[in-house]
Amino acid sequence: MRVGDPVLHTPCEPVTRFDDELRALVDDMFASMYAADGVGLAANQIGVSLRVFVYDCPDADDVRHRGVVVNPTLELPGLGARRLDPGEEGCLSVPGQYAPLPRSDRAAAHGFDAEGRPVSVEGTGMLARCLQHEVDHLDGHLYIDRLPAKRRKQVLAAYEQSYKAG
Ligand SMILES: [Zn+2]
Repeated sequence: MRVGDPVLHTPCEPVTRFDDELRALVDDMFASMYAADGVGLAANQIGVSLRVFVYDCPDADDVRHRGVVVNPTLELPGLGARRLDPGEEGCLSVPGQYAPLPRSDRAAAHGFDAEGRPVSVEGTGMLARCLQHEVDHLDGHLYIDRLPAKRRKQVLAAYEQSYKAG
């Protein structure tokens, strides 16, 4: 799903059944993420409005973390303790575009795995950015929604241009 599709701009529904259908969705999401060379993917990016994301992403020490979080809640350091990473961000739903977006350099997501067991993932560096980005997706927001209006317009215009050309 690309920017503009309503499923990306609508908050996802919580998962209520941890069944084979959910596990099949998670398998599909890992396959889609790897096919697109992504480090994370939210269910609504493949058109399913459920609170599920998958990730396979390095942290600040270049240690790879892989998993799924169902019904995640995001935990960030308190405002006084928060340090911002000024790095660039991109999204498989706005392909080819990147923009600097300050994000907390630490984040955690708490939720459940596909079997319904509690899971928590704590991340630094790119993984911290990924966790924030994926939970934003599930809340119906794209990273470009957090950019200054002018920058957001530029990113969208460049995307439209490459889409037409492509
Ligand atoms: Zn994304």
